[in-house]
Amino acid sequence: MTGAPSFVIVLTATAPGLGCSTLTANLGVYLRALAEDMPLGVISLDAAFDPAGFFSLTSITQGGDSVAETESLHWGQFGLHYLAQAVTAERDAAQFRRWLGRLNYDGVLLIDAGQADSHRAQAAIQAADLLLVALPGAGNPRQLMGVRQTFRAGGANEKFLWLLPSLLQDVQCSVEALNGLRFAAGERGLQVVPGEFLSEAAVAAIAAQVGGSILTRARESCAHELLFNLARQLLDAVQAGPDPACRLQRLWQDALLPRPARRVALRCPLCDQLALTGAVHYVESLPQRRRLLIHACCLKLLIVGTGLESFQQTHQPAVLELGRDTLGEAAELKLWVKTCVGYEVATIEADDESGWQPLVKLATGKTLREQFPTLVVIYPAKEGMQVLAASWAAERAKLRHQIRMELAADLA
Ligand SMILES: [Zn+2]
Repeated sequence: MTGAPSFVIVLTATAPGLGCSTLTANLGVYLRALAEDMPLGVISLDAAFDPAGFFSLTSITQGGDSVAETESLHWGQFGLHYLAQAVTAERDAAQFRRWLGRLNYDGVLLIDAGQADSHRAQAAIQAADLLLVALPGAGNPRQLMGVRQTFRAGGANEKFLWLLPSLLQDVQCSVEALNGLRFAAGERGLQVVPGEFLSEAAVAAIAAQVGGSILTRARESCAHELLFNLARQLLDAVQAGPDPACRLQRLWQDALLPRPARRVALRCPLCDQLALTGAVHYVESLPQRRRLLIHACCLKLLIVGTGLESFQQTHQPAVLELGRDTLGEAAELKLWVKTCVGYEVATIEADDESGWQPLVKLATGKTLREQFPTLVVIYPAKEGMQVLAASWAAERAKLRHQIRMELAADLA
């Protein structure tokens, strides 16, 4: 496991009083409504916002349970997880990402980073998969250049930086001024979310009693539509997954990958996401020795129907034999799987549109129909980062040797 949460959404603001904490708490509730089963946690770096005030189940927090010291997320109201008390320890970006990793939260984290110029917020911004910045009314996009620079320094692509005009302080802001902001932001490659965060006099009256300002999807509130739409957009981003190039850069920056990983393609050719969580196969072509990782679940979809699916449950490797025949639009591949009574083989007709194309291309550098005789060894799956462990490299060397010996006669 890399330990990193599945998706990190950081909320920050360019000035105080723009509603960052209210947004964080409410977006948690709205996201929960849209995705009931999605693990969702709330963390605050703003000393003035204690998530426990919104989300604690009173029965859990009785007895002076100082959960902040244990730094683990607690289950709370609305089925959300939260870290009780604001996190006030100062950490640099790499330390903060490692700290997030140690929380070992396999879900979406919403982090209220408070004002963007604090040291803590800057570290959080560099851990964000998606950054939502509240800015006053038609705030000058120039104010944002520092935030954007910090976000980029964390390896992120600015299409994941979204601006939210907040009218909590600036109710006089004109439509023209907001249009001006959208235009200026667009020219700088930043997204502005549709809608503005408005002050809502009736919030306290219609909000849930828990924290006093959580709107449980109250349709009569003017904030409802914004929160609902924003939550939907955030959910789309979560479902598309984190930017793998950014995640990879951070793993190298934080020295979380072993050196030999430099020789391995770490993005699964079938889904394009980083293949460092869940069950992962190490794949290697012979004689080229090009190496890559592939998710076991992605491979499973590819080999369904070959009759050899069960190899993934064994501790035996499978071998893909390339460079045989091309049959019209398709190339013929053979998949060899070792069993207790020798090798079983299946013939696969793979066309350019199939998932075999990106797999074979990454493993050999050539398309399905350009193949020379090549073996692609698919080693038994390992959990997450174990696939890059030195001990597994030694075992693979033995398996590789065995495969060469055992398949020599069949392939001759
Ligand atoms: Zn995959």
